[in-house]
Amino acid sequence: MAARRLARGRLTVSFECLRQPREHVEHWLIPKLQTRDRSMSDTLPTIGHWIDGKNVLGEHRSQEVFDPATGKAEKRVLLADLETVKAAVDSAQKAYPAWRATPPLKRARVMMKLRHLLEANAEKVAGLLTEEHGKVFGDAMGEVQRGIENVEYAACAPELLKGEHSRNVGPDIDGWSELQPLGVTAGITPFNFPAMVPLWMWPMAVACGNTFVLKPSERDPSSALFVAQLAVEAGLPPGVLNVVNGDKEAVDALIDDPRVHALSFVGSTPIAEYIYARGCEKGKRVQALGGAKNHAVVMPDADIDNAVSALMGAAYGSCGERCMAIPLVVAVGDDTADAVVKGLRAQIAEMKVGPGKDANNDMGPLITKAHREKVLGYVQQGVDEGATLVVDGRDLKVAGHEDGFFMGPCLFDHVKPSMVIYQEEIFGPVLGVVRVSSLEEAMKLIDDHEYGNGTCIFTRDGEAARYFSDHILVGMVGINVPLPVPVAYHSFGGWKRSIFGDLHAYGPDAARFYTKRKQITQRWPSAGVREGAKFSFPSTK
Ligand code: NAD
Repeated sequence: MAARRLARGRLTVSFECLRQPREHVEHWLIPKLQTRDRSMSDTLPTIGHWIDGKNVLGEHRSQEVFDPATGKAEKRVLLADLETVKAAVDSAQKAYPAWRATPPLKRARVMMKLRHLLEANAEKVAGLLTEEHGKVFGDAMGEVQRGIENVEYAACAPELLKGEHSRNVGPDIDGWSELQPLGVTAGITPFNFPAMVPLWMWPMAVACGNTFVLKPSERDPSSALFVAQLAVEAGLPPGVLNVVNGDKEAVDALIDDPRVHALSFVGSTPIAEYIYARGCEKGKRVQALGGAKNHAVVMPDADIDNAVSALMGAAYGSCGERCMAIPLVVAVGDDTADAVVKGLRAQIAEMKVGPGKDANNDMGPLITKAHREKVLGYVQQGVDEGATLVVDGRDLKVAGHEDGFFMGPCLFDHVKPSMVIYQEEIFGPVLGVVRVSSLEEAMKLIDDHEYGNGTCIFTRDGEAARYFSDHILVGMVGINVPLPVPVAYHSFGGWKRSIFGDLHAYGPDAARFYTKRKQITQRWPSAGVREGAKFSFPSTK
């Protein structure tokens, strides 16, 4: 039982029982599955789907899930077909009426319990991230914490759903607005934050009274399934959250199912644009967050040492596989650029690259062999285009992990806006320095770029910082903050081709995205009042 006690004048709630992590059976992972599918004749454990609160298998196509640190396939994930997606939507549709009728506070309590279960199992979830994504464990714990904060915010949904009330909008007439759930909603998420991004979506969607079908990345699906299992333990009725694994076939089935009313997507820009267009064509509400190429401006008056340290984490953290990563530094003045490059070189020399399980490492591997090849290709292209490769991490080998998808940090100087390595999202540990002569020139570069997810400025000049944040055409701006990822009670989203749709992810925008407004006008005439028909338009005149 949760014990309540007063501590230092504040009321605190202790959930000791929930803090004790207990061993969870991994219901979604089936060891050594035998099926008729010849491509699955190996003995890898198999990851199925989570439908109606149960693990569901089937004779599906499948693909291997790798440990990027060893390069070995460790699991196999099933890829849902149309029938499986239909079964998930059936389940969500069936669960909707009762869940919609559940008082918001009871729905919020499920989120509160889930929050404690996630805290108790944070290391387990982070371990799954390190195993399948490859990010270092400390970074994975940060991701889990950010996900938990979204669950905490979803527990506040009753406050966000209150609507507005006005008395006496006319004689004996009151008016109010309500935010009602949409029905079945769905989310499609990327590989780089496999635990956090799903938690941007479904906790708020279900806290608002919707049911949900999640399609996580097929490259690292386990954490989303484990969290779905915890949600059932927290009291989420079967069918309120379903998880289907899959690829384009599953995504298209979700978009095309007329019972799915809203789609949230996070991933690369070409897919975001496709999902937005196809979803809108089918009459759905769609928010699709896409790729990024974030610039950090370093002004001549900046604290260079601090700026360099901040840039290191922002460029190379999670191997550069973050949509808010900084792959470009725009240095104002050659002296600034020289100092930044010198500082970065020195700190890169100290970086430790290796398996994420080893707490001493700063950076793990890339997600797949194919992605590593792609990033290496970009580095070669930068060299061919004439940028100066100051640090070349291409040949890095990690002893004992020779088949892992590792590469070392790379640093380019003299990057020009005409170069492909300037224009395209590389999504790897590659940082480029662009030299400009003024803040105006830096801002024009950023404004002209197709992406507008995040940016930041390092300066001691308040006026310059204010001008920058006021005018720059980017959705999330940091001032001496390299990764300005909003906290859970603000919303997250870029501008330009980093987003398709109006409402941003999580925070207050999520409560709007997952509800529709209804306005009710009600009259209870005083007894005995009789009125004739009126043909003029009603007004308060
Ligand atoms: P991706 O676009 O390849 O995949 C994202 C999701 O879309 C996955 O679930 C995948 O299965 C599905 N998908 C892939 N191809 C599809 C197709 N042809 N049709 C339908 N669905 C398809 O992205 P990714 O490689 O998993 O993630 C990295 C990308 O995500 C980067 O571009 C990164 O910037 C972006 N990202 C953006 C944000 C943001 O908030 N803006 C956050 C995280 C990641």
